[in-house]
Amino acid sequence: MIYFDYTATTKPKKELLELHTRINQEYWCNTEGMYNPGVKAHMLLDKSSQVIIDTLKLKNKKVLFTSGATEANNTAIYGICSGHYNEPKHIITTYLEHASVLNVYKDLEKRGFKVTYLIPNKDGIIDPIDLEKNITNDTILVSVMWVNNIIGTIQQLDKVIEIIKKHPRIKLHVDAVQGFGKILPNFNLNDVDLLTLSGHKLEGLKGTGTLIYNDKLHLSFIKGGHQQDGIRPGTVDLAGCVVMAKTIQLASINIYEKYLDVKKKYEYLVNSLINEQHIILNKSQYSSPYILSITFKNVKGETALHTLEKNNIMVGTGSACNSHSKDQEKTLIYTLEDATLAVNTIRISLSTYTTYEELDLLIKHIKEI
Ligand code: PMP
Repeated sequence: MIYFDYTATTKPKKELLELHTRINQEYWCNTEGMYNPGVKAHMLLDKSSQVIIDTLKLKNKKVLFTSGATEANNTAIYGICSGHYNEPKHIITTYLEHASVLNVYKDLEKRGFKVTYLIPNKDGIIDPIDLEKNITNDTILVSVMWVNNIIGTIQQLDKVIEIIKKHPRIKLHVDAVQGFGKILPNFNLNDVDLLTLSGHKLEGLKGTGTLIYNDKLHLSFIKGGHQQDGIRPGTVDLAGCVVMAKTIQLASINIYEKYLDVKKKYEYLVNSLINEQHIILNKSQYSSPYILSITFKNVKGETALHTLEKNNIMVGTGSACNSHSKDQEKTLIYTLEDATLAVNTIRISLSTYTTYEELDLLIKHIKEI
């Protein structure tokens, strides 16, 4: 298989699979057990949090281990808003967000919250001035993702943070799933109140994720026992937590070197396709080199996907999480001159594993389509 869908998921690293098995075999006791093996398991859980804190140089933060980014995003947003159900407040997000953010905002809107959805410009980014203009005395939460998962645009989080800092009441939530481990941030992670990461996008395991949050925040989401500060009750999946910490550690190595390597491949791909009359490359100066969105002028994205698949080449269309729903290309509606072409789009995602031979095959078949 020639794989170009690293945005949807990645193949787990063998050492992480082995680590998962080893921890399950050696530390299977409940982390809440008061006997020695339970205490040891709890110590390993604390160590896993500390590994993340140290690796990301975090201050005054806590780590919540989750089942992935969907749960982390839900926990962040409901965690902040559920305390205001009796007196709904104003919250701001963007139309670029992943469904696990956007659909939570839509749910809160139904519960009486006033929601502002910021609209991306033609370059696929949110204008920070637009954000600033929409803040009111009632605003309590802003969610802006780092890198979009469909067109790969990188948001100006440095500017977003500058604005949010003027309003200490507002909490900033960032879905960092497609940026972390790929792009060096031009902002300080410590300036983000709630930061979402997913393990399986980083060669970790499916079912692993993290929400990093300000230690002073009282998040309330699901109800149960006191595990993970009561925010995520239930018996802790220690092996998943240990693996997530290791995933973050490994993904933090040589980010810039990996970025440069992928950028070269991206430029090779773009330069090989730029003069094709029948396609549009959905890119701008804000694009991440890890994602190239391509719109065909006369072919459905799904048809192109399956034509490539017949040649053993796997690409995505929109978000894998929404690939079976009709509204998957919402993001493209804002960036394409002709919004009806949104359904004619495929998503190529690259990695350091991508070879030039693979790229040549992809280019050949795209040209044929
Ligand atoms: N946010 C973004 C930006 C994503 O790309 C994804 C995965 N498509 C998610 C959230 C959801 O991640 P998970 O599969 O870990 O729930």
